[in-house]
Amino acid sequence: MVMRAPIPTNEHERLDALLELEVLDTPPDERLDEIVGLAADLCGAPMAALSLVDSHRQWFKSHRNMPSTQTSRDASFCAHTIMSDSVMVVRDASTDARFFDSPLVTDEGFRFYAGAPLISADGYAVGTICVVDTVARTIEPWQEKMLQILACQAMAQLRLRQLVDDHADVLDDLDMANRNLNFLATHDPLTGVLNRRAVTDLIDGLATANASGSVSSAVMFIDLDHFKDVNDAYGHEAGDRVLVTIADRIHLGARGDDAVARLASDEFVVVIPNAVPYAAEALARRLLQAIAVPVEHKGMAINVSASIGIARWGDHVLSAGDLLRDASAAMNYAKLEGRNRTVTFEDRVANELTRRLDAHSFVRHVVRSGALRLEFQPLWSLSTGEVIAHEALLRWDSPGAPVIGPGEFVATAEEIGLVGEITKFTIREACRLASRRRAAGEMSSAVTVNISSVQLERDEVILEVATALNDSGLDPSGLILELTESAKLAESGPGQATLRELQHMGVRIALDDFGTGFASLALLRSFPFDYMKIDRSFVTVQSEIDRDVLRSLVQLGHSLGMMVIAEGIEEPAALEQLREVGCDVAQGYLLGRPGSGDPPQHMAPHPLIAGLATRD
Ligand code: C2E
Ligand code: MG
Ligand code: MG
Repeated sequence: MVMRAPIPTNEHERLDALLELEVLDTPPDERLDEIVGLAADLCGAPMAALSLVDSHRQWFKSHRNMPSTQTSRDASFCAHTIMSDSVMVVRDASTDARFFDSPLVTDEGFRFYAGAPLISADGYAVGTICVVDTVARTIEPWQEKMLQILACQAMAQLRLRQLVDDHADVLDDLDMANRNLNFLATHDPLTGVLNRRAVTDLIDGLATANASGSVSSAVMFIDLDHFKDVNDAYGHEAGDRVLVTIADRIHLGARGDDAVARLASDEFVVVIPNAVPYAAEALARRLLQAIAVPVEHKGMAINVSASIGIARWGDHVLSAGDLLRDASAAMNYAKLEGRNRTVTFEDRVANELTRRLDAHSFVRHVVRSGALRLEFQPLWSLSTGEVIAHEALLRWDSPGAPVIGPGEFVATAEEIGLVGEITKFTIREACRLASRRRAAGEMSSAVTVNISSVQLERDEVILEVATALNDSGLDPSGLILELTESAKLAESGPGQATLRELQHMGVRIALDDFGTGFASLALLRSFPFDYMKIDRSFVTVQSEIDRDVLRSLVQLGHSLGMMVIAEGIEEPAALEQLREVGCDVAQGYLLGRPGSGDPPQHMAPHPLIAGLATRD
């Protein structure tokens, strides 16, 4: 070995301090074993020790998985750790000039080492608490802090043995150890902010002041959006880094007397003991901005956002549990509203959440019990007056159903993962009925089925369509899929690829509710829809301007090569306008309401449309 262990300038006194402890070569101590075990667990290291650095050796008072109970001082890492009072970290000993030829590295395979010095009451570093791994790595700042805390505790334990000699010092150390233990019991080890128990106690402690009206406390519940994706995409180390960074940012954003806590994985709480009106909302706004700044980790920039719920102490709040429940309900509402936002708890939030939960169980019940059925509404050609298709609209038979329409029914099914079953039902059932109608001779009529963009993004939709066409024997030209304008479609993403594939199979595609959503000219040009369905809000023409808008929409559809359908026709005047502006197809209560059972066959030209034609 080339290197020799460094010798501190106060080596003589240091060795005296070590000897005074009367600990060398004594039997194991259960409490110290616990501390060493805790160090290994907190740092995720296979090996750990309490090492005492003697004149020519290091001796392990306690250790986990170390190859022996002592080594030469020259070979030891701890001889270097005691040169300062901070934690020493060696990421890779095999590339470190001080250690690469130590037998611990060459023979025992030590690579990573982190040690915190054990400082005696007089300030001498007598040994260390250290952790060791056989792979090159490092530890997080919070783990370094824990090593230091554990070193303090170990030292206090060692000093206990000299109770008789030095009462005062021991009491000091014990006090410090107690404070450290108290810190551990009330703080989150990863982020250093308060833990659940501490914050619950703190909120409960505010109860009397709130009840007397002398303060008005608020609680903010912060949950990171899609945090699981961060862990999955970047790994847990990056996840921890994000949590620590976000905790710091929340801490920095909060005011002096606000308390910050972490409840569980990605859930944080801020308690504002005395919140003037809108103080919590203003803080939430600042925190959303602070959280949105990308977190840097190993050259990567990780983007996160959060959903925040705010609740205030009120008459119905009796305990911390009540207040946290309200704040968490408001946070859940923020998630439902689209995440990355703040919602303040009010009765409205509670009512809406109950309604949504009712909707969840209702939709689950309907889908599972097979109570779904379809109604059909005819679409009429404005040139021939004949039915060219029937739109399939989702219905269910269930007495006592909450009042939700098919749009919300499908959206709820999307939330609870049942939308696949609905897609399967609507496409199969519609194809079956359409095929039956064609078999009865109504060859030109098609069936239209509504598909949401979530349904479209599922890979199965192509398979579902192919299976339904195959099983029913319906020609693909007999099926039209109606797609509602959506932001997702606007990007050329998987949705458009699926649409192209379906069109390739011979299925036609309609853009539903045109004019209400996100469709831009770019979307219309990037995908060749077969039909454009103008939303019913454009159909009730009341002024010259309305008529011009309607006419332009029809012309737009035509210039892009689409057939134009107008929906929601309730008045004869609207029908007349549509004819006038050159619309191709009309649908609405005036011409026929949605009906159950098989759609009527061989419908004669509609008299109202025929009437228009004869007047021309
Ligand atoms: P949509 O595709 O625009 O369907 C037309 C809606 O307008 C239907 O409501 C229909 O009953 C209604 N309607 C038809 N004519 C008139 C009229 O003259 N006046 C008025 N006021 N309304 C008229 P419905 O059945 O309640 O469906 C609402 C929406 O729910 C549909 O709008 C569609 O987006 C969605 N939806 C319905 N069935 C399904 C389905 O099977 N799957 C999916 N994904 N969505 C569906
Ligand atoms: Mg539709
Ligand atoms: Mg529509």
